[in-house]
Amino acid sequence: MTKNKISIVVPFHNEASNIAELYERICTALKDEPENWELVCVNDGSIDDTLSELIALNRRDPRVHVIDLSRNFGKEAAMTAGIDHACGDAVIPLDADLQDPPEVIPALLQKWREGFDVVNAVRESREGDGWSKRVTAHLFYRVINRLSKVKIPADVGDFRLMSRAAIDALKQLPERRRFMKGLFAWVGFRTTAIKYHRAPRYTGTTTWNYWKLWNFALEGITSFSSVPLRLSAYLGFAVSLFAFVYAIKIIGSTILFGNPVKGYPSLIVMVLLLGGIQLMALGVIGEYLGRLYEESKQRPIYVVRMILGPSDSASELKQ
Ligand code: UDP
Ligand code: MG
Repeated sequence: MTKNKISIVVPFHNEASNIAELYERICTALKDEPENWELVCVNDGSIDDTLSELIALNRRDPRVHVIDLSRNFGKEAAMTAGIDHACGDAVIPLDADLQDPPEVIPALLQKWREGFDVVNAVRESREGDGWSKRVTAHLFYRVINRLSKVKIPADVGDFRLMSRAAIDALKQLPERRRFMKGLFAWVGFRTTAIKYHRAPRYTGTTTWNYWKLWNFALEGITSFSSVPLRLSAYLGFAVSLFAFVYAIKIIGSTILFGNPVKGYPSLIVMVLLLGGIQLMALGVIGEYLGRLYEESKQRPIYVVRMILGPSDSASELKQ
C-alpha cells in the first residue's frame, strides 16, 4: 500500500532566523505519523539569508522543496505558489514564524483520517497579539460575516488542513486578488475544527501594521460581498426621501409665511451633505471598479524564479 503524503506549505519573507527551529519542530512533530511529508518553502522576495538557508536545508533533506519567487508578492500570493506546487494528499499552510505550532499538526491529521476534508485550527488564545488587535480582529469577523454569504470562521488563520479534493477545488478559483481565508471557506467540503494556542512570534517582527490590516479587511469585504455597493444605493435613496420631505416643508412654509430670504444655513448643510454622500458612494464604486480592473488584466498571481525539489506538479505551475 502506498503511503499518503502531506504537504506543509510555508511562505517566507525575511525569516532566516526561524528556519532551523521551524524545520526541527516539524520533523519532531511528524516523526511518529504514518504519512510521508514534504515541506514546500516559498521564498517571497526576502532580502536576508532566507533563500540560502532554505537551499542548504534542501541539500540536507530532499523532502524540503524551495520555490523562489522573482520578488515580494505578498503572503497570499506566496501561499498560492506553495499550494500550486504541493502534491500531497493533504495540504497544511503554516506561518514561518512559529505562531502556528507544528505540534498541532498531528491533531489536524487525526481529524483528516476520520474523513474530514477541511480541518480548521481555531485560535483559542492570541498570546502574541495585543488587545487592540484582538478587538479589531473580532470586529472584522463580525462585519464580514454580516456582509458576506460565505461564512468565514472567526479566529481561523491560514493554518488549517485541506484534503486533496478541497485543494483541487481551491485551485480552480482564478481570482488575482486572493483573500485566502475567504477562498478557503468558499470551497466548502466536510469541515471540522480543533483549538490551539497561538504562540507569539519566535524571532523577528511582523510585517503587518494597522494600515495593512485595514487594507486586508477591505480586500476581504470587497472580494466576498457586494453589500457596500447596495448600501450606497440605499443611502442615496434615504437622502433623496429626506430631501423630498424637506422640500415639501420649505414649499409649505413659503406658501404660508412668505419667503423672507433666509435659508443659507439649510442650503449649505444640504449641499455639503449631498456632496459628501456622493463622494462616498463614488469611492465605494471605485473600490470595486479598481478590483475589476486588476482582475481584467489577467496577470499571473506570482512569478517563479527557481524551483528546487522534485515535484510532479512543477510543470503545471502557473507562470
Ligand atoms: N509573509 C510573506 N510575504 C510577505 C509578508 C509575510 O510570505 O510579504 C509571510 C511571513 O514570512 C510569515 C507569514 O507570512 O511566514 C505571516 O507573516 P507575519 O508573521 O509577518 O504576519 P502576522 O503573523 O503578524 O499576521
Ligand atoms: Mg506572524
